Amino acid sequence: MEKVYDLIFSVRELTGIFQHKTNINGLLHLVVKVIAKHIRTEACSIFLLDETENNLVLRATAGLNSEFIGKIKLEIGEGITGKAFKERIPINIARGAMDPQFKHIPGMHEEQYESILAVPIIYHNKELGVIVLEDSKAGYYTPRDVKALTLIASQLATFLDNAKTLLELRKGFKDRINNDSLHKQQYYKGRSASTGIAVGTSFFMSETSKGKYLRTERLDYPESLEAFELSLTRSTKQLEKLQEKMDENLSEAGSLIFASHLLMVSDDDFSGSIRNYIKEGEKASKSIVKVVNEYIDLFSMSGNENVKEKILDLKDLGHRLLKNLSEEVVDDGDYSGQIVVAKNMLPSELVKLAAQHTEGFVIYGVGVTSHIAILAKSLDLPVVFLTDKSFFNQRDEYTLVVDAYQGVVLVNPEEELIKKYLGNIDSSQTKTGSAKMLDFAETQDGIKIKIQANINILSDSQNAVKYKAEGSGLYRSEFLFLIRNNFPTEEEQVVIYSRLLDTIPDVVFRTIDIGGDKILGIADTKELNPSLGLRALRYSLKNTGIFKDQLRALLRVGVGKELKILFPLVTGIDDFKKAKEILAQSMEELEKEGIPYNKNPKVGAMIELPSIVYLIDEIAAAADFMSVGTNDLVQYILGIDRTNEKVKDLYIPYHPAVLRALKMVAESAKKNNCPISVCGDTAVDPDLLEFFIGLGIRTFSVEPRMIQFVRREIARMNTENAVRFAEKAVDLGTVREIEVLMSERMKNT
Ligand code: PEP
Ligand code: MG
Repeated sequence: MEKVYDLIFSVRELTGIFQHKTNINGLLHLVVKVIAKHIRTEACSIFLLDETENNLVLRATAGLNSEFIGKIKLEIGEGITGKAFKERIPINIARGAMDPQFKHIPGMHEEQYESILAVPIIYHNKELGVIVLEDSKAGYYTPRDVKALTLIASQLATFLDNAKTLLELRKGFKDRINNDSLHKQQYYKGRSASTGIAVGTSFFMSETSKGKYLRTERLDYPESLEAFELSLTRSTKQLEKLQEKMDENLSEAGSLIFASHLLMVSDDDFSGSIRNYIKEGEKASKSIVKVVNEYIDLFSMSGNENVKEKILDLKDLGHRLLKNLSEEVVDDGDYSGQIVVAKNMLPSELVKLAAQHTEGFVIYGVGVTSHIAILAKSLDLPVVFLTDKSFFNQRDEYTLVVDAYQGVVLVNPEEELIKKYLGNIDSSQTKTGSAKMLDFAETQDGIKIKIQANINILSDSQNAVKYKAEGSGLYRSEFLFLIRNNFPTEEEQVVIYSRLLDTIPDVVFRTIDIGGDKILGIADTKELNPSLGLRALRYSLKNTGIFKDQLRALLRVGVGKELKILFPLVTGIDDFKKAKEILAQSMEELEKEGIPYNKNPKVGAMIELPSIVYLIDEIAAAADFMSVGTNDLVQYILGIDRTNEKVKDLYIPYHPAVLRALKMVAESAKKNNCPISVCGDTAVDPDLLEFFIGLGIRTFSVEPRMIQFVRREIARMNTENAVRFAEKAVDLGTVREIEVLMSERMKNT
């Protein structure tokens, strides 16, 4: 039945709202209710721009979960709402959940709705926010509704502008109140660093001066000397077991990753001090906390560069000793059941905490290294990066849900929601995957595409085999350095690289890409612009001792095999040649020492910098192969830090400038007969994958878990269409036009 209503609110209806004595939130609530009634729809919500955080905040809703008011924050451009705001156009969608732009927010109760209509609120040519309507009937909103809501949005603009200003002014105050009342369900939107879901209690690992100390978490520990002795024995046993398991599963971590823990538990001075306090009448738990904190003070004074990590180890041990005081024996006595919340984290710390069964991580997302995200994926850990500082200022224990599929953290979620999430974890673990495993990728017109695996840590190679990778197109050798926080010797590297080649015979070894945002915890001086600093090949060329150790190890393991060495972040021919000279020197040294080595290694260059794009013909002629690292290429072409949350919406891999650079690279590879592959994350994006295939690229290296997905996508493609798609894309000069082209591509597949 056709809906009947006036297009415009009557003034009486509007002024009627203000006769209610309520606060701004109350007024906004009345407004959404009136709109919903007016348009005869089931749900109406208002999102307003928060100018300080530059995101859209849910300010009122009728029909959705009102607990999320003030907590749901959308990035500009995110979801259908964010898109309507960014593009200043109404968006009317017949089946919201099916729309690729649709952002599912757990617990919002949006599942019940099909139709979505989002209209931007514009005031004095400035975007204020978005009014969103939802209804359970599919295809519910007519063009008339769009017009009506647009008019309503403009009628309400003055009022909403005032409301927005007042809400922002009070924000500081409100934040404090929110923090005090964290027991209510809260929702935080961040960036997912990996996939997976974790449910557990929060464990805050703050680095603030106060936060560096261990705290007693509970009041009900058994407090006797016997309880402490038992805890010490349990802890020692657990640590030994952990260390053994670590050697099996993460052999590249090197010896004794739990060295400092083990040292402390067997140190009589340390345990003796705790015993003394207990004998003097102090509680066991307090004594542990006291002594651990005394040691933390000692370490803090030492001036040792590794001190931060040592303090964390100490706290970690204290946490274990406290947990093990408990009589209900926790066999693992570690971080199981807990979500670690930290303001910062080194890869080596992540590895340690993961080994101790941490369920998931919430990490402050500013200045977080790209390696944390890469490592989280390899370790199969749910990790979400958040930038909302208020979250990290909490100290107490809360139940958290970390949804690393959506990049969402829920604080004290409702029981029902927890159950739902726990159900999801179970089903994702038991899912065997009904789709048939594809041994190779082939387009509809019979063109074979090679899909290889990106390997970060040795255990990735098991997944590479499981998902039928055709070799590895990128071994990120720096993880070997990052997870142990030191420089492995040539001999140690020989062992690790040989192990990798035993599982996967065809590997592209990238020399270390450390420096920049990929810092080692050791002896690193901070740089102001790390991405533009001493990173990757530049680091190796300035530290030739470390570089040669690695090259010699690679040359040695390559005996009797095809050895492929790849240099990261090559700027031009000069640094590429310099790197090759050092390789030649390493060969000469091995020759002189009579050590067998591969005499004909293939040497490749990563295409990650704009400078190399301008020199692509020269590099394609000089290199044995090229590998396009789009993660960095996008960062450097657009000048957008790949790790910076604040500009993540501007990190656009399909930006016309990037697409044109990629075209130049692919054409030059063809002209110079230089093998080329893509190993950046763009290779798993179906649009970009088709674009690359259209450019003639036939080899891709992706995360092992994505291999089958990529093969299935390729099976739907046709190279002729891909060529046309790529040709059209590089002709377009704006992001918007390319997005339209991509959405048309999607409709046709
Ligand atoms: C890239 O930059 O695309 C790449 C594969 O290298 P990394 O992500 O390790 O910097
Ligand atoms: Mg890179």
